[in-house]
Amino acid sequence: MTDERAPSPRSILAQIDHYLDPASGALTPPIQPATTFARGADHELLGDYIYGRTRSPGDDLAERIFAALDGGAEARLFGSGMAAVTTLFETVDSGRHIVAPRVMYHAAQDWLHRISERRGIGLTFFDAAEPAALAQALRPGETDIVWIEVATNPNWEVIDIAAAAEAAHAAGALLGVDATVAPPVTTRALALGADLVFHSATKYLNGHGDVTAGVLVTARADARWEEVKLVRNLTGGMLGPFEAWLLLRGLRTLALRFDQASRSALEIARHFEGHPKLEAVLYPGLESHPGHAVAARQMTGGFGGMLSITVKGGAAEARAVATGTRLFIPATSLGGVESLIEHRASVEGVHSVVAENLLRLSVGIEDTADLIADLEQALARI
Ligand SMILES: *Cc1c(COP(=O)(O)O)cnc(C)c1O
Repeated sequence: MTDERAPSPRSILAQIDHYLDPASGALTPPIQPATTFARGADHELLGDYIYGRTRSPGDDLAERIFAALDGGAEARLFGSGMAAVTTLFETVDSGRHIVAPRVMYHAAQDWLHRISERRGIGLTFFDAAEPAALAQALRPGETDIVWIEVATNPNWEVIDIAAAAEAAHAAGALLGVDATVAPPVTTRALALGADLVFHSATKYLNGHGDVTAGVLVTARADARWEEVKLVRNLTGGMLGPFEAWLLLRGLRTLALRFDQASRSALEIARHFEGHPKLEAVLYPGLESHPGHAVAARQMTGGFGGMLSITVKGGAAEARAVATGTRLFIPATSLGGVESLIEHRASVEGVHSVVAENLLRLSVGIEDTADLIADLEQALARI
């Protein structure tokens, strides 16, 4: 009997046959920056490519790897996470309906408001802390996409992907999952029933703070997916060859970076739970977290490096902590090798629904004891 077991994401990341250049034997892929591709004597294409905006060899390679990592049929890269998100929602027809969490990645929510107002698309936001709320938000036959985050940003409420898929499908809707904070080394949303997975590759997948990119992976290469590819082609949302190459280089160490961030974040969360200067520590890896059991089921390779703390007091106290750290850098973004801290309400602006005393932490790969000491000294000063 042959072993039919498909390689796990951790093995896929290291599989050299993805990266090996057959022309030279090089262990890293070449960069092909061409924007156009020649035709032969009968005007036939010489290779698989026509024009850089449509497809390019570098994107192709990265897309095959992303499809394999998430166990999907196909993947497409985009020039940013938001280019991927907006492309997907561009395929929603007027008169249809979208369901999404009340607290979620703010720019994606801003886009939903915009298309809802301009294109007559219904919008219902649900409370992710309430397990029955998603199903109640659905309008059977009218809801087109249910959009969820594996853990909602920045409150880290956990949404049960399998339950969401079941509810969405029963209403005739697709389930799209923003898995930016839960890359395929910990969560494979398609295997749990999702139809589409999205990652801001700017975050964990690249991990080094030097590429802005997004990726969509589909469970099926169906008519809807053809629409997504068409919109990307027509709007020019593709990723450039240099960025695709750099992204693949960062991607190779995803498992190591994510493991370290997960270990460290759990230790930090445990250390600061019950701290006299804090109201709460929000981290799905804590057993006291209301979504812990679901998170443990669907984040099988670690709970990741994202957590939030709510400081006793208000915005002033929270901001003082964010400017009082030395190792944690006060900056937005997440999933990089360096630890970041941000006052989320300030970053999101006047429309923010995030608590004024909340600080979002992205734990990097520094020494955990140093990170804990850094936060302790910043808290001691307020
Ligand atoms: C960053 C982020 C996005 C948007 O991605 P960009 O690469 O910044 O365009 C979407 N969702 C989540 C959860 C993110 O963290």
